[in-house]
Amino acid sequence: MKIGALALQGDFREHLNMVRNLGSEGVEVRTAEELDRIDALIIPGGESTTIGRLASIYGLIEPLRKRIADGMPVLGTCAGMIFLAAGTLHHEQPQLECLDVVVERNAFGRQVDSFEADLEVGGFDHPIHAVFIRAPWIHKVGGDVEVLATVTDPESGESRPVFVRQDRILATSFHPELTTDTRIHEMLMEVS
Ligand code: GLN
Repeated sequence: MKIGALALQGDFREHLNMVRNLGSEGVEVRTAEELDRIDALIIPGGESTTIGRLASIYGLIEPLRKRIADGMPVLGTCAGMIFLAAGTLHHEQPQLECLDVVVERNAFGRQVDSFEADLEVGGFDHPIHAVFIRAPWIHKVGGDVEVLATVTDPESGESRPVFVRQDRILATSFHPELTTDTRIHEMLMEVS
């Protein structure tokens, strides 16, 4: 299996290391031609406005939308989740609008900018250690979106989704590529 990582900005190398450790071929994707040659795609964490702007400049927005609409499995982490989403609260920015969620960027506030937590995940037999870095959470989910993990907002006490699945689209607010837990990358391979 050939797995691509969108290599415009962000921590795509860490994702590719994980993919290669799992025995798949991992390739960097920067052009529509490279996108055509992969079986599944990872959109990494980084800065979602930069990833969105560069994707527009590289002419990748429509090719990405088409491949995802045609069923290519995709995993978006953190900024990657924001880029996949239908919208963001507060500001407009280039987004693929493939994943029916509205996200809130930098949702955990300045004091808890970055943190780690063990999360229960639907379908996993033990919790996942999740690393959040200036992370978004999901403000609103559409009807076809399955919520696989949540965190509790300390201010309101409400549950906020941080790991969701919509058919072959997986998205996390956190960074599985920065741990040694490979289960989320394996999930991407399994839905392929
Ligand atoms: N704060 C970044 C954004 O809004 C995401 C951070 C990350 O990917 N770790 O794009």
